[in-house]
Amino acid sequence: YKNAPNTLRELLDTGRNFEEQEFLIYQDERLTFNTFFARADAFSHYLVTELSIAKGERIAIAMRNYPEWMIAYYAIVSIGAVVVPLNSWGSADELCYGLSDSMAKLVICDQPRYDAILSGADQLSCQTILVRAKDDQAGLCFEDIVRANLGAAMPEIRCDSDDIAQIMYTSGTTGRPKGAVSTHRNICQAIFSFEFHGMCSAMANPESIGKMFSAGFAPCTLLSVPLFHVSGCYAAFLLNLRAGRKTVMMYKWSAEEALALIAKERVTIFSAVPSMVVDLLRHPNFKTTDTSSLFSLGGGGTACPPSFSSAIAENLSDAYVGTGYGMTETNAICASCTGDAFLYKPNSAGTLSPLVEWQTRSPEGDVLAQGDVGEIWLKSACNISAYWNKPDATAESFIDGWMATGDIGYIDDENFVFLVDRAKDLIIRGGENIYPAEIESCLSQHSGVADSAIIAIPNEHLGETPGAVIRVRQGADLSETDIKDYLNTKLAAFKQPSHIWFVDEELPRNPAGKVLKRELLKRFMN
Ligand code: ATP
Ligand code: MG
Repeated sequence: YKNAPNTLRELLDTGRNFEEQEFLIYQDERLTFNTFFARADAFSHYLVTELSIAKGERIAIAMRNYPEWMIAYYAIVSIGAVVVPLNSWGSADELCYGLSDSMAKLVICDQPRYDAILSGADQLSCQTILVRAKDDQAGLCFEDIVRANLGAAMPEIRCDSDDIAQIMYTSGTTGRPKGAVSTHRNICQAIFSFEFHGMCSAMANPESIGKMFSAGFAPCTLLSVPLFHVSGCYAAFLLNLRAGRKTVMMYKWSAEEALALIAKERVTIFSAVPSMVVDLLRHPNFKTTDTSSLFSLGGGGTACPPSFSSAIAENLSDAYVGTGYGMTETNAICASCTGDAFLYKPNSAGTLSPLVEWQTRSPEGDVLAQGDVGEIWLKSACNISAYWNKPDATAESFIDGWMATGDIGYIDDENFVFLVDRAKDLIIRGGENIYPAEIESCLSQHSGVADSAIIAIPNEHLGETPGAVIRVRQGADLSETDIKDYLNTKLAAFKQPSHIWFVDEELPRNPAGKVLKRELLKRFMN
């Protein structure tokens, strides 16, 4: 996008034009654009003048969704420092890993993260600023800092489009989370790409155009996912701050509360992971709640289960629905499909944005023909070009301007992306490729199976074989033979699991809801 601004400050400062309009609603707090910017200016002034934060220094944010998360983020990137959003669901060890890996000089945290960080670190090497402290704490308090500096102007610090703006960690599904290093240009391009996708999706649906151009229409997003992933941070925060839209922020997910907020604040956009969309649509209050303001509903970031389409078909009449594919490294949705396109190919993750170049490649690195299954490689101005502090992983994934996604899939003759599985999860049994997702999908259709995961079991002769970990639905009576008989009718012999384990408890998942297969492997192979 030639017209995209060069820096995040330029990108977001358009929000200042919306002055006394409401920007952020959090419980009983309501912040106008003016209030937001005044607090951010005060905080950034303090960072530069009192803490001497210099360009390029890393400042971490470790808290749940609070208005201060957004204020701190904007203040940090506007003075040329590098923002490091940490996963607030992480353990003490994981939080401390993020702080030491990024070599953060300062962390801004809420009370639970503050306690966790202090318990996890032998010696904390960075300063802390506490938000919404429970008790009188020794040390720096965010609210006091803002109060004492209100009225100060944002310091002027020159930034270039190629300067680093952010290190955001991947979800850690396939290994330790990796710090994805984004420049100002990467994120500015990504926000433009979000705007483009949003407009295209709205235009694809006459119902939503009708709503958008009706008198008194006020766009409003419900932020129901955490801010420390791109989906929440960009789609609900950066985009709305820039474009003068209202955001209603939830501290944590509750379908009941979401419905109440949709009715009260006249929410127009709801996007989350697919299981949350299903929760919302199937909640007993859904039918009695006024959801007429909603015109866009999205679920993405992970494969949509069959319940996603059926919940939509059963409950929704006039909002348009979509899904999207993206990753921390692409900074944005690289593919999406909504409205009629979603109904046309509900199993697809969507069509790629026109600015994204793509290829599918064989494990040997050969470029495959359109329609063939292989690893998806992408090239785009939104993509990062390095992992923080990980030269080997960087060299493996970023080659000649292209990025290996680690996802296996294909792109059909109408440019729709179909994801098959992750490259790292692929099981090769005596030379035959087995995609765990195919077996998992089969198992999910068995009425006695509540959840399942297929893991790669090392095998001396065959290399690997698939092992099935199955959580049985409550009240169902399932034996190993039942599962074997069932799978035999559905899948080829070489795809049959060599091991079957039953578990009672939930499978281990990361905050994004993705099963942690390496933990299962450790547990069952020891
Ligand atoms: P790590 O890279 O640390 O192993 P992660 O890949 O889960 O973790 P994210 O960047 O949060 O970290 O997730 C991006 C990944 O999520 C994609 O590479 C893809 O595997 C999966 N994904 C995203 N959207 C979809 C979708 N619509 N359908 C299926 N999978 C998806
Ligand atoms: Mg990944």
